[in-house]
Amino acid sequence: QERATLLDGARVAEEIKAEVREEVARLEREHGIIPCLVTVLVGDDPASAVYVRNKVNTSIALGLRSEHHALPHETSTEQLLALIAQLNARADVDGILVQLPLPKGVDAMRILEAIDPAKDVDGFHPVNVGRMMLGQTALPPCTPAGIIELLDRYGIAIGGAHACVVGRSNIVGRPVAQLLLQRDATVTICHSRTRDLAALTRQADILIVATGRVALIRGEHIKPGAVVIDVGTNRVTDEETIRALFGERAEERVNALRRRGYTLVGDVHPAEAEKVAGYLTPVPGGVGPLTVAMLMRNTVMAARQRRLRSN
Ligand code: NDP
Repeated sequence: QERATLLDGARVAEEIKAEVREEVARLEREHGIIPCLVTVLVGDDPASAVYVRNKVNTSIALGLRSEHHALPHETSTEQLLALIAQLNARADVDGILVQLPLPKGVDAMRILEAIDPAKDVDGFHPVNVGRMMLGQTALPPCTPAGIIELLDRYGIAIGGAHACVVGRSNIVGRPVAQLLLQRDATVTICHSRTRDLAALTRQADILIVATGRVALIRGEHIKPGAVVIDVGTNRVTDEETIRALFGERAEERVNALRRRGYTLVGDVHPAEAEKVAGYLTPVPGGVGPLTVAMLMRNTVMAARQRRLRSN
């Protein structure tokens, strides 16, 4: 039995970042512009802190300017709105990223709507979401755009394919379905109320899973030879689950678990999927690294569009 080809998102992300680095250098050389990404983190959620640090470090490594605002958990919606207003007004700020989730007391939708759409590098502002629906994408959401980029760079044909998306969140499921539709896929969107999930996912040439449910997708959900994109990023802390998911390859993961106290797994059962799928993204090292690479690309795109518009 042949195993699925692993789609190396980490490698593709490095390629994209190298292109962004060149573009940053060119913008400075030809226009004197150094794109600036501002990150805003509210509260002390450890996972969010890791994500933001990664974004800051990557932006610095690519030659962008980085500014970080760490605000206490008690920050009010009004205080955040005041900060956003300042950042919107500053000509030197190209991208504004407010790390989600925000603490319960903050009205996240009001915050996202307050960001200038031209600086909305996450692509979550209703104006950018609407533009994407109309096929006028200026700043696409990072994870969905990264998935399309990964498929393209592996030469996987999207047009005419049946793509099934499991999950309908605003940050992954819905927008990736929309981007696939624009690329002429036939798209099915599944969610927690879907009846007979396997009957639908089994028809998919391209199966994209973003549910946050460990091993929701088993071998029986996958059409033989299909492309399977696993967006799930779940922390698993028990050895038994790891052994069940990775079979004979579990040892390395179990060691990682013992070192760090957890290991990351996706929403797709890896050992089963490898036996059925034609292509599969690993977790970690699949979709995750692409998200940050696309954020960098969006920041440079935002800088170019906003600053060179008037020239
Ligand atoms: P949400 O929790 O916002 O959405 C989950 C979706 O999955 C919902 O639409 C839900 O359906 C659906 N769902 C849940 N259970 C089932 C089920 N049993 N059968 C079918 N559908 C189901 O999650 P996100 O979209 O924000 O994230 C999904 C996963 O992707 C998470 O693990 C997250 O950590 C990861 N992620 C990774 C990123 C990266 O790699 N860069 C970026 C963003 C997210 P319903 O709407 O009916 O409730």
